[in-house]
Amino acid sequence: MPIYEYICLNCQNRFETLIMSSDEQPTCPKCASASLERLLSPFARAAGEGAGTSAGCGPSGGFS
Ligand SMILES: [Zn+2]
Repeated sequence: MPIYEYICLNCQNRFETLIMSSDEQPTCPKCASASLERLLSPFARAAGEGAGTSAGCGPSGGFS
C-alpha cells in the first residue's frame, strides 16, 4: 500500500496518508489545508539507495 508522508505548510503538522490514486489530493487532518509538501517515505528511500555503492572493485578490469 502506498503510504505517503506529508507536512502541512500551513500548520507544520506532519502526517501519513494512504494515496490510492495519483490525482487524489490529500488535505491536512488538522487544519484541512491543501498546502502540503510530500516527504520521501523511508521505504522508498531504502529501495532507491543501496545500488551503486560497490563500484571500483569489480572483477571486470584488466586494462593492459
Ligand atoms: Zn495543517
